[in-house]
Amino acid sequence: MDVNAAVAAVAAIAGLCTGVIAMLAFRWSERDQARPTRSSMRPDINAVLPPGVDTVLSVLRSSAVVLDEADAVVKASSAAYALGLVRGGKLAVEPMLHMARDTRRDGEIRQVELDLPRRGTGRGEALAVSARVAPLGSRLVLLLVEDLTEARRIEAVRRDFVANVSHELKTPVGALSLLSEAVMDASDDPEAVMRFAGRMQIEATRLTNLVQELIDLSRVQNDDPLEDAEPVRVDTLVAEAIDRCRHTAQSKHITMAAGGTADLRVWGNRSQLAAALGNLVENAVNYSPARTRVGIAGRRVSGPGGDLIEIAVTDQGIGIPEKDRERIFERFYRVDPARSRATGGTGLGLAIVKHVAASHGGEVTVWSSEGQGSTFTLRLPEAAATRTTAADSESVPATTPAPEVLP
Ligand code: ADP
Repeated sequence: MDVNAAVAAVAAIAGLCTGVIAMLAFRWSERDQARPTRSSMRPDINAVLPPGVDTVLSVLRSSAVVLDEADAVVKASSAAYALGLVRGGKLAVEPMLHMARDTRRDGEIRQVELDLPRRGTGRGEALAVSARVAPLGSRLVLLLVEDLTEARRIEAVRRDFVANVSHELKTPVGALSLLSEAVMDASDDPEAVMRFAGRMQIEATRLTNLVQELIDLSRVQNDDPLEDAEPVRVDTLVAEAIDRCRHTAQSKHITMAAGGTADLRVWGNRSQLAAALGNLVENAVNYSPARTRVGIAGRRVSGPGGDLIEIAVTDQGIGIPEKDRERIFERFYRVDPARSRATGGTGLGLAIVKHVAASHGGEVTVWSSEGQGSTFTLRLPEAAATRTTAADSESVPATTPAPEVLP
């Protein structure tokens, strides 16, 4: 194989993406004239491929399939098999096969987007793929297939989110607009003005909470919590969370009790951890009837990658139906939207908790029994077991084992 031919082959694959492959394919077709017939080369399939193609295909992200003039697969990447494009030495997707034949006939590059049924059960989300076909020399055809399923899913989630945010914002803004009209109409009735103004305040607070939670959510999604991570005392987080809900709890005669192991430390972003635990305690108070108890307790447990700290928030509240338990961590999902609205809920609290837990290398789980109560458990890596800074080692009491410093 000469160097020029190899360069031409490599460039042609790149050109497939940029639309210049047609020109390069011409050079291969010249080489192909001088080659022995395909059947004589069958045992060594790489010999049929223009030089360098094999290497380039192996580094491409797309699934690649090379077909010969009899539609037999001469080369296919493992991703092509995984996607179910190739079965029994044949290209298994009819529309792609037709496209390959057309391209072999007229040398035109073709592209199409297709939804393919999943292999096996035939159930579940279809595979969304983009397929591009180009001639590879005079006899071969190259098919590159990109799996767009994940990109499509993310796009759908984004669209849903924007639609949900718009809807959530519209409600308090619409209410404010109506209430301001009511105030103007009632300008000579001071009592009515006071009543409407009070309701305006409630709607304005709702709007502020929603915007604040959207900012929090965007922060926890965009910021890397471990960039400015530090050892954070669980006792302080618990005290802050209790403080945040003290007023609501008092008005409902709910007792809040902190317990468990003292002096635990988790590793992470202080404000994100405070927001997460605060949301769990706030929910426990909001979804509990009067004269009940909310307990918050931390303890150390062994995990597969070292010690973990578990912070459990337990309430004696309304509980969560089994069918909703999986979904409550989704953005804007509420079991009872009317009740959530009444408590000033935004439907974003648990989505924030879940994100904070995951980005700290932990998790949040829920146990619940309808009418009896719920326990949300936040599991986070322990500070001493992960890493430390000079400042931290000063603040760790002498009895704490020397923290392990990871590279
Ligand atoms: P919200 O702002 O509506 O409270 P969250 O994301 O914090 O939103 O919670 C989602 C939903 O999960 C709530 O609307 C509520 O239905 C349910 N939920 C959360 N925590 C509890 C709890 N401790 N007890 C009962 N239901 C809860």
